[in-house]
Amino acid sequence: MDDFPQTLGEFEKRFRTDEDCRAYLLQLRWPDGFHCPRCHNSECWLLKRGLRKCSKCGYQASALAGTIFHRSHLPLRTWFRAIWWVTNQKQGISALGLQRLLGLGSYKTAWACLQKLRRAMVRPGRERLCGRVEVDEAYVGGVELGGGLRYLGNKALVVIAAQVDGNGIGRIRLSHVEDASADSLRPFVEGAIEPGSVVITDGWQGYEWLESRGYRHKTRVISGSGKTASTLMPRVHRVASLLKRWLLGTHQGGVSRDHLEYYLDEFTFRFNRRTSKHRGKLFHRLLQQAVAVEPAPFRYLVSARDQGVKYGRVK
Ligand SMILES: [Zn+2]
Repeated sequence: MDDFPQTLGEFEKRFRTDEDCRAYLLQLRWPDGFHCPRCHNSECWLLKRGLRKCSKCGYQASALAGTIFHRSHLPLRTWFRAIWWVTNQKQGISALGLQRLLGLGSYKTAWACLQKLRRAMVRPGRERLCGRVEVDEAYVGGVELGGGLRYLGNKALVVIAAQVDGNGIGRIRLSHVEDASADSLRPFVEGAIEPGSVVITDGWQGYEWLESRGYRHKTRVISGSGKTASTLMPRVHRVASLLKRWLLGTHQGGVSRDHLEYYLDEFTFRFNRRTSKHRGKLFHRLLQQAVAVEPAPFRYLVSARDQGVKYGRVK
């Protein structure tokens, strides 16, 4: 299914009620019709609220179970409107902006809603970057203080991979790393870039392992070349400056380090789809991914425990 609203008018007309939204989600969840997750039967009874009951084993399947909408106290229509605004604003939207726009009761609700959507912005099983890829780290400032002792002043370190596409930039990947050691950089590079690709870095020792893991390594060294870092790795530096502008602009620099990774996911989602002609397609894409991800209870969002595990950090 690739039909989606193109304009706000079409959106408002199409999604008047929660039932309209539920029907759309059902179609996204089971594009080829119902499929019982327990016995693989394809016939079912339609119950209320989007529930399907398997005609063979009686299993009741919900279109929302296991998704970010599961057990949410927000009406589906509010979720849809949030997704519409997040995907239709070129620079996204802040929690405060969303709270005002949708008339949400609290800042916390708006913040949690956006945070859940960010988790849906990473498509499970997405392809790694390939071809020629620039990799470098950048310090992101304007990030509020907090967290452990190993942080670098009030800055956070972000590693950036940017695919070379002629003179321009192809797809990107970003991650918040603890430091620029090989131990921190390697999991990112291996998760983000296909082996066999040409990885372009500066002469930093944290990248010396690349050849041994099947990458072709090209170094560009600053000293004596008479060039600055931004001309040696122009794509990475362009992405870094856009990222900094976005964090300071849309989010007013109010992003804590514990949640930075999710903001990077949103930035990446937006950047990698920047040439998409129809903003409505982003709306459709995000909903599609939203029905495919695990639910994220609020306590996980605020404790950032899952992120600590991701980096092997103990808090
Ligand atoms: Zn069944």
